[in-house]
Amino acid sequence: MLYAVLSDVHSNLEALKAVLDDVGQRKIKNVLFIGDSVGYGPDPNECLELLSGKCKTILAGNHDWGVIGQTDITYFNEYARAVIEWTRGVLTEENKETLQSFPVQKEITKGNIFLVHSTPREPEEWHYLLTLWDAEINFHYFDGTFCFLGHTHQPFIIERLPSGELLTYKKSVRIGKSARYIINAGSVGQPRDGDPRACYAIIDDDHIEIVRVPYDFETVQNKMRTANLPFPLIDRLPWGR
Ligand code: ZN
Repeated sequence: MLYAVLSDVHSNLEALKAVLDDVGQRKIKNVLFIGDSVGYGPDPNECLELLSGKCKTILAGNHDWGVIGQTDITYFNEYARAVIEWTRGVLTEENKETLQSFPVQKEITKGNIFLVHSTPREPEEWHYLLTLWDAEINFHYFDGTFCFLGHTHQPFIIERLPSGELLTYKKSVRIGKSARYIINAGSVGQPRDGDPRACYAIIDDDHIEIVRVPYDFETVQNKMRTANLPFPLIDRLPWGR
């Protein structure tokens, strides 16, 4: 078993390319994408097409559903909403149809892995899994050993020991024999944990790791300015906020 798990690309082509290069250098063939291909950034078509070509599995996130009208646009804050409307204008019809086809959750049986964008408990409600208590509840809503999710743009690994004790890791963990895991893969295109580098997760037979990859955010900022996207979204990229 060897997978790369990517989340929250948000139309950031430079970050996505940097991550896929890193994945390629590690010779990882199985790439899983767990939602929010679009929103916030300037290259929705390019990102969707690249993800469709490279990923074995692609899930929908709340921004993807916002663009196709599946999640009400009033759910979003003003900046997110503005870019969702902009994205509707630039996305090709074919790519809109592609967005319609993504599920919100999926089980990868062979690897004993459950994938979801928000939470296993209510995938379509777009809740945020933020606390250990949220994690404890959600451990009861998926089968198998591993659950990967995204949505908060803040990576973590939570381990649940057979005793019920929960442990948190920031960078990596060796997989324990009878333990179960919820892993937030962070965000490729808009990290919010104070580290501006693109983020994704790797899992193999004996460990789980959060990986950071530098990318050219200045190019992305320039494209965002040209597209007239909201200033706060441009400003946050170098800070990872
Ligand atoms: Zn997101």
